[in-house]
Amino acid sequence: GSVIGILGGGQLGRMLASAAARLGFDVHIFAPEDSPPAARVAAMHWQAAYDDESALREFADACDVITYEFENIPVQSVDFLVSIGAVVRPGAASLEKSQDRLAEKQFLNAIGIETGAFAEVSSVSDLEQALKTLGRAGILKTRRDGYDGKGQVRLKSGDDLAAAYADIDEVPAILEAYVPFEREISVVIARGADGSMAAFDPSMNDHAGGILRTSIAPCGLSDDIIARARTMAEALARETGHIGVLALELFVLEDGTLLANEFAPRVHNSGHWTPEACLTGQFEQHIRAVAGWPLGPVTRVFDAEMHNLLGEEALAPADSYDKDAVLTLYGKRDAKPGRKMGHVVARTGRA
Ligand code: ATP
Ligand code: MG
Ligand code: MG
Repeated sequence: GSVIGILGGGQLGRMLASAAARLGFDVHIFAPEDSPPAARVAAMHWQAAYDDESALREFADACDVITYEFENIPVQSVDFLVSIGAVVRPGAASLEKSQDRLAEKQFLNAIGIETGAFAEVSSVSDLEQALKTLGRAGILKTRRDGYDGKGQVRLKSGDDLAAAYADIDEVPAILEAYVPFEREISVVIARGADGSMAAFDPSMNDHAGGILRTSIAPCGLSDDIIARARTMAEALARETGHIGVLALELFVLEDGTLLANEFAPRVHNSGHWTPEACLTGQFEQHIRAVAGWPLGPVTRVFDAEMHNLLGEEALAPADSYDKDAVLTLYGKRDAKPGRKMGHVVARTGRA
């Protein structure tokens, strides 16, 4: 097919649309916002709610294949699209498993991917009990809709648990044991329609206040750790029947143990260095996969460092990066503090 539909209108959709355009596809965006970043580089924009079935039907009729750039698209919307004969890649399974932190961790454990300890929390007394069971420190997270560290409260014994639960609006939650990681890495992997897989080199990721600041490749870890990380990502892509790119976030403990944090069924911020450093970048790779093309080679030709530009950092981007780094801005109009506005990639050497 030659028209790719994308559910979601953010910067990931924008970069997917640009990569798709370069491969000769037309891109249609389906997103409820008025003039979101992706819609301004696409051929068409359906501005409608994700549960608007007549708009979804029209959209599906206009697209050869549909993908998503945002993991909180309602599963029912994808189910509806599939029920009317649309091809949606990745499928609803990847979405469903990643939308709910509790189901996500249970699924990861069930397919042999270890996580830190966690417990379901639906009341303050659950929270009290869970904090006792999991040890003295933990992170309370909403099960759904969190990103960039939103909907999370760090807790230790002695804290006011009722206030913490109120802080996340008393919604269904999960308490995760605090993982004393040495570093964080992620594996961005693509799985093609034929089941073939290609993983980028893992990057080392630094967060501040729950928001990704920097991703560095190579990650500096041993071949053994890297091989185990890839094997975990491959298992995840295979077990979800994923078609497209996904990212698995991992904690690395001092003894080399890898614990999964979460996964995203889409292109990922920690893979934003790949277009500048690898023969095929993550956006092109995702388009190739969902279009049913062979995957491109993920050979990394440069060492790279990606820095996010948050809020007003993107208003004077020339001050935020070396002039030989590659700048990407997302075209967002409102530079709220902490909002991801763009990123720069420095090529720090030959691989
Ligand atoms: P995003 O989807 O933008 O990556 P998020 O809101 O889903 O973020 P998480 O990935 O759960 O948030 O957490 C953000 C960061 O907080 C992690 O990358 C890690 O640095 C830290 N963190 C989260 N959970 C834990 C944990 N259980 N133990 C230690 N650190 C944690
Ligand atoms: Mg997340
Ligand atoms: Mg995360």
